[in-house]
Amino acid sequence: MGAWGENVAVTALLPLDEARARAVAAVAAPLDAEAVEVGDAPGRVLAEDVLAAADVPPFANSAMDGFAVLAGPAGRALRVVDESRAGRPARRPVGEGEAIRISTGAPLPAGATAVVPVEHTAERDGAVVLEREAPPHANVRDAGEDLSAGAVVVRRGTVLGPPEVAAAVAAGRAEVRCARRPRVAILATGDELAPPGAPLAPGQIHDSNAVALAALAAREGTQMVREGIVPDDRAGTEEALKRALVAADVVVVSGGVSVGPHDHVKPALAALGVEERFWRVALKPGKPAWFGARGSTLVFGLPGNPVSAVVCFLLFVRPALRALQGAEPLPAPATALAAEPIRRSPERAQAVRVALDTGPDGVLAARPTGPQGSHLLTSLLGADALALVPAGDGEVAAGEPVAVERIAP
Ligand code: AMP
Ligand code: MG
Repeated sequence: MGAWGENVAVTALLPLDEARARAVAAVAAPLDAEAVEVGDAPGRVLAEDVLAAADVPPFANSAMDGFAVLAGPAGRALRVVDESRAGRPARRPVGEGEAIRISTGAPLPAGATAVVPVEHTAERDGAVVLEREAPPHANVRDAGEDLSAGAVVVRRGTVLGPPEVAAAVAAGRAEVRCARRPRVAILATGDELAPPGAPLAPGQIHDSNAVALAALAAREGTQMVREGIVPDDRAGTEEALKRALVAADVVVVSGGVSVGPHDHVKPALAALGVEERFWRVALKPGKPAWFGARGSTLVFGLPGNPVSAVVCFLLFVRPALRALQGAEPLPAPATALAAEPIRRSPERAQAVRVALDTGPDGVLAARPTGPQGSHLLTSLLGADALALVPAGDGEVAAGEPVAVERIAP
């Protein structure tokens, strides 16, 4: 190819950031919200602000097992007049010369202004002797100390995890409103593909992309509606895509988007009225990535090479799935220092699979996982993040900062 031809190829590649922006911009509005039981909500995206229905904790209580008393000096001998246990408050207040035995989390009795831990007391003849001073408010947890009534506990757009659902329950909720789960279809194209575990005929390989993409989609709170292997013929490709388009919010196709004579995905999608939004990105791996939409249905044509498919899912499909659920599409920018030199690619941004280690100085280091070929699934093993290295000459020297995006949410 001469210089002219090379130039054409170069200008035809869309910059990575622009491609990501188009994938996110294609989401016109988040999916409708629905009520979700808190136990089913982890992994889903909150479609409302959760407010505390009441103070948390609802009442002042003890931080220790010990005795509720009036604050005051050490050496006092107090009569034990009642007990306050978790879930069973004392029936009377505490006064001068008195103590009420109390458990952690039990309501502070009326009149009490401090709790003396049991370790700092001695019990003699029905009385308790305080071996230490009881400063005002010692070991008392106030009502509303964690959350005050009406406070926003978890914000709309948050991807819910164990802490957020716990906070929602403390705030009084059994259900929260979340965006509907995006319906995802995953189609793996290729005459060479055999299902997992099937004996391989000559020239066949196992379809590893479908399971990888399904697992990545599942992490985003999605619902799988169709999955399958699609042969490399025009009619079969169009038929499979037609069904996927009516069933799914997001169709993810692996393979068949390059320029070979057996790549039928693009013409089939065009025939089905899916409008191209980009094709070919200045990205390594992932150059043949294709994206389009039909109405509100998004279609991602990912390259078949296993690493390219995963990288393109992370960089294009994941942001779109988050936007569809009303979450922040892109992760917060983070940087790490290259643990070893990384050669730049002159024309394409690279998504280098790296392990992240925190050095003794607390600084994050990004260490490439090994050979980075787009067919080397092993380059994903042990990878914590993608280091996004812009196109350019030379190399990123060891110790230079690189942008990193975590693979696991
Ligand atoms: P394609 O994008 O269809 O040209 O495929 C590029 C490379 O990825 C070829 O080596 C394919 O055999 C391989 N490949 C395609 N689909 C899959 C798949 N589902 N699982 C594993 N490898 C695949
Ligand atoms: Mg193929």
